[in-house]
Amino acid sequence: MEKKARSSIYKTIPAMAIVPIMLFGLLVLFICSIRFNGVMHEKVEDELENIAASVAATYNTVFPGEYRYIEQENIAFYYKGDEEITGDFTIIDSLKEATGAEITIFYKDVRMITTIKDAEGERLIGSGVSTIICRDVLDQKTARFYDGVVIGENTYCAYYMPLLTENGGCIGMIAVAKPAEVVKDLVFKAVFPIAFVILIGMLAAGFISFRYAKKLATAIGHLQKALANVAKGDLSKDPHYSIMERNDEISDMGRSVVSMQKSLHVLIERDALTELYNRRCANQRLKKMMKKAENTGTRFCLTIADIDFFKKVNDTYGHEVGDKVLIAVAKALKASMTGKGFVSRWGGEEFLIVFDETEYETGVDKLKIFMENVRKLQIPDERFETPIQVTMTFGIVAGGAENDIDSLLRTADERLYKGKTEGRNRIVGE
Ligand code: GH3
Ligand code: MG
Ligand code: MG
Repeated sequence: MEKKARSSIYKTIPAMAIVPIMLFGLLVLFICSIRFNGVMHEKVEDELENIAASVAATYNTVFPGEYRYIEQENIAFYYKGDEEITGDFTIIDSLKEATGAEITIFYKDVRMITTIKDAEGERLIGSGVSTIICRDVLDQKTARFYDGVVIGENTYCAYYMPLLTENGGCIGMIAVAKPAEVVKDLVFKAVFPIAFVILIGMLAAGFISFRYAKKLATAIGHLQKALANVAKGDLSKDPHYSIMERNDEISDMGRSVVSMQKSLHVLIERDALTELYNRRCANQRLKKMMKKAENTGTRFCLTIADIDFFKKVNDTYGHEVGDKVLIAVAKALKASMTGKGFVSRWGGEEFLIVFDETEYETGVDKLKIFMENVRKLQIPDERFETPIQVTMTFGIVAGGAENDIDSLLRTADERLYKGKTEGRNRIVGE
């Protein structure tokens, strides 16, 4: 199966926040543009219709009577009532000045009088219109608005009004037009403020979303780093403080990472039965202590302690009770610890007791308290009237930077063995 290309939440989360805002903004802008385009075209259509009506009314007032067309010796004459209006541009020019619209009066589909001029300033008299306009306006005798009519070199929005005669015929048209650019300008002017507000809104919303999304992505990134450290076996690094400062599922996950680190610490460093440091951890701590001794010249004491006749405890009371005794002894040893150092389960019913920054004599004095506290232990068991009591034998050795941990441990072990052979329940030292 093809491997899926790797993506990153640093990109996807901000994109997830911004893209919908952008799309929504563009959609609103698009709908507004279409709506305004429609509204503006309607507005222009109304305006052109009014101008066309004014043109018709003005001609009717100034030249009462019907439009008539006469052609003599290939020369066309257009009349309104008794007056010939061909070549008289006074009315349409003044109406153009007043309204800003181009005005044309047609005979059929031919421009007879017009304000529209070509590049040389010549009026576009004699030019025609498209067949569509002929069909719609002349044939069907209905007024029509067209968007994008090309006249000469320009494009216009134009309104064509049929000129009807008394007998119901259609002799021509009045056309009123405004350049398409004017309408576009109107639409632009109407849409621009809205587009501006949408853009600012999009930027603000995008900025806020981006910041939140980036913060989220960063927090997830920190979480990923914290988990990667745990996966690598590095339990010493706390998750980034910014995760813990949050109050959501991310900070919950951060706390879970910390709990996981603690659980793994316990699993790696502690003995499952007694919860004391295990032998592996004890060795690491011994190494650290030795380094410190080498750097600072401090001295320390190591003791290997072993429960006397523990096999008998197991044999008499059972293995489970034996475990209970081990737990009670471990607890008593740990509780006896004062100052720097640690107690660990060295193996079976053996314990390693370390007094850091401690001279031999002080070590022995401390150990006496340990021995006494173990002697005082009374471990009850419901099956027996008298509580179980145990003693321990201790082999102690003092050392420092000049020594080697393994040989010190060997000496402590030898002294413990000596204590066992000499009758147990004692401390054996130098
Ligand atoms: P000594 O005074 O010479 O130390 O005698 P001992 O009986 O204590 O020594 P020995 O080495 O003969 O027996 C140690 C016993 O400790 C044997 C083993 O079954 C028991 N033991 C070791 N680990 C555990 C444990 O985790 N739980 C229990 N219940 N017993 C254990
Ligand atoms: Mg033993
Ligand atoms: Mg023993």
